[in-house]
Amino acid sequence: MKFESKTVHAGDRRKAGNYIPVTTPIYTAASYIYDSMEQLDRVFAREEEGPSYARYDNPTTTALETLVNELEGGNAAFACSSGMMAMNIALLAALVDRPKRVVAGNVLYGATSLMLTTIFGALGIDTEFVDMCDLDAVEKAVTGEKTAAVVMETITNPLLRVPQLDKIAAIARKANAAVIVDNTFATPLLLRPMELGASMVIHSSTKYLAGHGDSLGGMIVSDQAHFETLKTLYRTMGPNLGPFEAYLTMRGIKTLALRMERQCENANKVASWLKAHSRISRVHFPGDPQHPDAATVARLLPQGQAGAMVAFELKDGGKKEVFAFMEKLKMIVCATSLGDVHTMVLYPAMASHRDLSPKHRERLGIGDNLVRLSVGIEAVDDILCDLESALRA
Ligand SMILES: *Cc1c(COP(=O)(O)O)cnc(C)c1O
Repeated sequence: MKFESKTVHAGDRRKAGNYIPVTTPIYTAASYIYDSMEQLDRVFAREEEGPSYARYDNPTTTALETLVNELEGGNAAFACSSGMMAMNIALLAALVDRPKRVVAGNVLYGATSLMLTTIFGALGIDTEFVDMCDLDAVEKAVTGEKTAAVVMETITNPLLRVPQLDKIAAIARKANAAVIVDNTFATPLLLRPMELGASMVIHSSTKYLAGHGDSLGGMIVSDQAHFETLKTLYRTMGPNLGPFEAYLTMRGIKTLALRMERQCENANKVASWLKAHSRISRVHFPGDPQHPDAATVARLLPQGQAGAMVAFELKDGGKKEVFAFMEKLKMIVCATSLGDVHTMVLYPAMASHRDLSPKHRERLGIGDNLVRLSVGIEAVDDILCDLESALRA
């Protein structure tokens, strides 16, 4: 099956008794019984597939895991309560039997950096942050000292850089470090990190996968090597996604390809329009031929589909001008998230990258005039019209 068909069919229609539901129902049961105790014994021993207790398996969640695993091309998937929980469990899986050291991108989702420094750091796990778009720096960091994992994003937040994932994965694998790739911004429609050498892919399914801003969740897609460790972590630590959220996420994914195609198309138009606007000094968009990673984008992402996130800088602007712009928006939603069907705008200096000092933000290129836009599926004319009236002084 092609990607678009898998999004609609994979995971569904598992036989339950002597009938087959067309779409997977929400199973709320905490435990499951079988015809014989011997069979239940086999299920507990994992000699036979099937649910026994909800922390081990849930049929609704299993359907979602099958679906996401098919889309990412992994060995197995694990549905977690949030994207951060997925990152946490993936990191633990990489660290249990490796040196306690991580190499991570210097511009990551804020909570990922914070988790590495404040929580893992306090537990004795060192993280070295490097520019993932500087291959020499990555190689030096990964081979200089024994490393458990490399943590990176396929399209970074908020400056939308695109590191050379395949080359980073080759460097990491040679050093026996796991490669954990956050594929939230690209989605498996645009990029499948497992095919390029990733060990584990994580998602905040809250974003594009679920796509409607109505359910928090995360996914881990794993290779064969980390499967057993992840299974043990999952069964003992209980990071599970609930069946209601699993249902909503699966329902969302059925239209992932349609939504993402439209969102990428809209983002292309919005980025070009912003670039020509007199109040905008700079546009960050991977689809821009002048983007610093244009060659990597051409190599790794499909033609014309460079994601649906656009960042831009207001000319001679700061916090005051950004706030005034955001308050004037009528249709575009000013809220902390992305990847939903509706267009959303976020101010990184206030929200996602608030915990960094102004100096640190400046060093990373996140200015006080930077705005991040998640382009939705609306009619593009309405998006442009809303932006135009909010940009008018
Ligand atoms: C939102 C997000 C996360 C965290 O996911 P939650 O579902 O909010 O826990 C991680 N990485 C990226 C790139 C994100 O956008």
